[in-house]
Amino acid sequence: MSLLSVRNLVIDYAKTRALDGADLEVAQGETVGLVGESGSGKSTLGSAVGRLLSRAAQRTDGEVVVAGEPVFDLPPDRLRHLRKRHLGFVFQDPIASLDPTMRVGAQLRLVLGRGGDVGFHLARVRLDDPRVTRAYPHQLSGGMAQRVAIAMAMATSPELLVADEPTAALDSQVREEVSNMVFSLAADAGTSILWLSHDLPAVARRCDRVAVMYGGRVVESGPAREVLGRP
Ligand code: ADP
Ligand code: ADP
Repeated sequence: MSLLSVRNLVIDYAKTRALDGADLEVAQGETVGLVGESGSGKSTLGSAVGRLLSRAAQRTDGEVVVAGEPVFDLPPDRLRHLRKRHLGFVFQDPIASLDPTMRVGAQLRLVLGRGGDVGFHLARVRLDDPRVTRAYPHQLSGGMAQRVAIAMAMATSPELLVADEPTAALDSQVREEVSNMVFSLAADAGTSILWLSHDLPAVARRCDRVAVMYGGRVVESGPAREVLGRP
């Protein structure tokens, strides 16, 4: 059974049909790269997974099923539980996933709950430093803030991590390091990854499978070699 099933998903903004019957499956433990040009619908599909769409978006048809749960039909408490227990999200701008008013240590502690080890989770992204724990998000570099966001997203060992261009704003060296961290943390935890990117070669190097979006649909999907057209 798939961990994530997106079936015939149609999502409209006021003047744009962003998803036009998108289908996608992600299996347990699988890493899938979702690629496509800007505007093809990647972000809309990624946020639909957690029903994190902007207010302007309307689901017109189709469904999203995560771990057997139909996310658009869940009552608020079940949806909150699903997001908390089964899903992790990271975005291009790490500040979007962090609380600007809370120190790093405090917000990580909040996610972990009682008995959680903040130092352990920061060490996993190589940030176990009292200065980081005490810092506010805006005091960190982009790469450091993204590593904190990754530590937060992975702290609960989610079944699926949705990563929407999390390295796009980083320098190329930091980009590699951060990507490596995400894939190795996910492998350790058995977490599936849906990695959104317009960088097909980078995705092809890391993901088990690549799905290509065009015009709000997934038009092709398969092992990276096949999608890249290499024998
Ligand atoms: P991608 O992530 O591949 O760049 P998006 O999902 O961001 O694609 O966008 C798909 C389409 O939906 C684009 O035409 C985009 O302009 C439009 N769109 C995205 N977000 C909004 C929004 N909040 N309001 C209106 N249109 C939007
Ligand atoms: P990306 O392709 O990296 O996701 P975008 O520039 O497409 O980035 O979108 C950045 C933000 O702007 C997203 O939150 C998206 O929902 C919003 N957005 C994108 N297109 C539109 C649009 N046509 N109208 C309003 N908001 C949009």
